[in-house]
Amino acid sequence: MLKAVLFDLGNTLIDVSTWKEKFPKAIINFLFSSYSVPKNVAKEKLKITLEEVEKISKTNPHIDKIREAARIYSSLLKETGYSIQEEEIVKFTIQFRDKNLRPMPYAKQTLNFLKKKGFSLYLISDGRKDRVKKFLEFLKIEELFTEIFISEEEETTKKERLFEAFFNSTKLNPKECLMVGNDPESDGTALRYGIPFCLISTDKITENYTFKISSLKDLKKVLEFFNKEPQLTCKLCGKKVKNKILCNSCKNKLEKDIKEDQYAISLISDVSEFTNSKFEDTFEKILNGPLIVREEWIEKWPTTEEEVNKFYKENTSYIYDLSLVYLHKNWRDQNKEIVSYVVKNNFSTAMDFGSGIGQLALELSEAGIDVSCVDVSEYLLKYLRFRADKRGRKIKLYKEIPNEKFDIVIATDVLEHLWKPEEVLNKLCSHANKAIAITFRPFRMEDVLHPMHLQRNAEKKKIFDSILSSNGFFLEASGLPRGLEIWRKKE
Ligand SMILES: [Zn+2]
Repeated sequence: MLKAVLFDLGNTLIDVSTWKEKFPKAIINFLFSSYSVPKNVAKEKLKITLEEVEKISKTNPHIDKIREAARIYSSLLKETGYSIQEEEIVKFTIQFRDKNLRPMPYAKQTLNFLKKKGFSLYLISDGRKDRVKKFLEFLKIEELFTEIFISEEEETTKKERLFEAFFNSTKLNPKECLMVGNDPESDGTALRYGIPFCLISTDKITENYTFKISSLKDLKKVLEFFNKEPQLTCKLCGKKVKNKILCNSCKNKLEKDIKEDQYAISLISDVSEFTNSKFEDTFEKILNGPLIVREEWIEKWPTTEEEVNKFYKENTSYIYDLSLVYLHKNWRDQNKEIVSYVVKNNFSTAMDFGSGIGQLALELSEAGIDVSCVDVSEYLLKYLRFRADKRGRKIKLYKEIPNEKFDIVIATDVLEHLWKPEEVLNKLCSHANKAIAITFRPFRMEDVLHPMHLQRNAEKKKIFDSILSSNGFFLEASGLPRGLEIWRKKE
């Protein structure tokens, strides 16, 4: 459960960019009017100064940049015959900065809101102690924080071991924390420690985040993902529901309908037999499937490739979620589409990558196709073995892609769950003789049911398309049920 929110300071809570943008013009004018330094000279020396300071601060992150810049600037100006005291430049710079400091939009409202909701707040800042204290005083927010971690005090930065200092002191579990910051590099280090990371940015091109919002105002939307009782809409009628997949009336109707629906009965009985549970209880669990998986995800919140793999390897709840996918008769059209395509084209072999409960595999097998299934979950493979045996079907099961080629390779509802989907898609292409069937459903901020959709960037689809094209496939059919696309290999 989310207990603590960790904040970066500069450009997350306080605007430290605006003054830096305005500063060159201001100091050049000041030097011109007070000391008659020609503007082109002041400009040129300032450029050298700022480059020099950046270089120094790379090896010495806790250097007093303002003082250092003043020292360099003063001596460069002296060389050209203008004597301006270092102190004078420091004084002007600090006055100008303080006059131009601003809180970031919604900074104080956000902190107060979180505090009222009962979250503990922490500050994790790369910087000098005096500077951090000054900014906190300016914002009047110091008392909102349970504890403050400053890189200069801890003698280490975020990229090094500042998060370790945080854990040592607070004893919090990474999965109880959320890091909020504007720098995917330093703040994004949180991910390595297992902390989900909310990036505040409008322009940075990176995949190093769990959530990306453009302003602190949207942090409330992020918190919905951690909410134990999320607001949802009924999967059948779209009515608002709380912590449920179907509204009561749709659920009652479905309950009646499935009594005469052999397909649904066998879906539920298989799970019920395999898990040794009553039919009615299994039905309930299947209806709650997506909520059960979601709750497990937010408890564990995997933020590294290892954690993600472990989640899918060990998970035993997807059996319910994936059974729900086919529970209503209107939701079975994607499988029908794939089976009819495969039959129409006289394909004889298929590989289902991320086969899950094997519903498609069974349907393909019943249509006479030689089916191979690949899934990381041993539990689901065991379940599929049980289902195939029960029907006397021969389906080959693999934990990894076998060294074979197939007429068609299918990867539905899987690409968005992968850490490196490009790599996998390339590999899938090399195993497909004639066709590939895929779907891609990237993460959406509104879709609080699917925090596990790792692919945060909808533009990824273009990259997938170019991977398929460069492997010799062309888009043969799109606009099929639930976003299905079929790509055909050029003859
Ligand atoms: Zn409904």
